[in-house]
Amino acid sequence: MDYVFAPAPPVTVPIAEPATAAVSRRFPVHRIYCVGRNYEAHAREMGHDPDREPPFFFAKPADAVLNVTTGATGEFPYPARSSNVHYEMELVVAIGKGGRDISAALALEHVYGYALGLDMTRRDLQAEAKKLGRPWETAKGFDHSAPLGPIHPVAQAGHIEHGAIWLNVNEVEKQRSDVSQLIWSIPETIAFLSTFFELQPGDLIFTGTPEGVGAVARGDLMTGGIDGLGQFSVRVV
Ligand code: MN
Repeated sequence: MDYVFAPAPPVTVPIAEPATAAVSRRFPVHRIYCVGRNYEAHAREMGHDPDREPPFFFAKPADAVLNVTTGATGEFPYPARSSNVHYEMELVVAIGKGGRDISAALALEHVYGYALGLDMTRRDLQAEAKKLGRPWETAKGFDHSAPLGPIHPVAQAGHIEHGAIWLNVNEVEKQRSDVSQLIWSIPETIAFLSTFFELQPGDLIFTGTPEGVGAVARGDLMTGGIDGLGQFSVRVV
């Protein structure tokens, strides 16, 4: 059997190894799921009443990952067909053990680690899609729309259940909240998501952004962090 053309290489993300580690490992990405409106103040700023309606999900293709390696500044190409591209700083959960109908009580056993992520969004196309009842793919799933830092294994970083999440643009603070403010906690999100999809090792879950989203332009430098996961920087080019 021959492929009719070379298959795309697997999408992988580096593991954040301790400085003394002799190995350099990578996390192979299966799918990217994203939670919408998962911080109360962000739901309000987008015009919704966050009355703990069930979580909802959308997806990005795995190859939307833009690796931002430790010590380097990532480069996010400003996408075509938009003039209103927003940052959304998010905690990303990396699934290491799959399953369906996972109970919230056992959900954290399925987590391999955590990472810093940006859910970059063509807000103008998303607003149009919402108005017309159309899908969000062009708004959310475009190329390079998922800048991602290295994955910190639970074995080293523990579980991230509280701690600051923040984003600066050009050294001006734009977003600041606490991971404990998630409307749907990480175990609840995994439990709910796994009723729709059989989760697989390699799945990533963008858990939602806090308030303060806004537009960026070419040349802007986004720097974001989460307590326990360090920080990363991405320039819009
Ligand atoms: Mn988001």
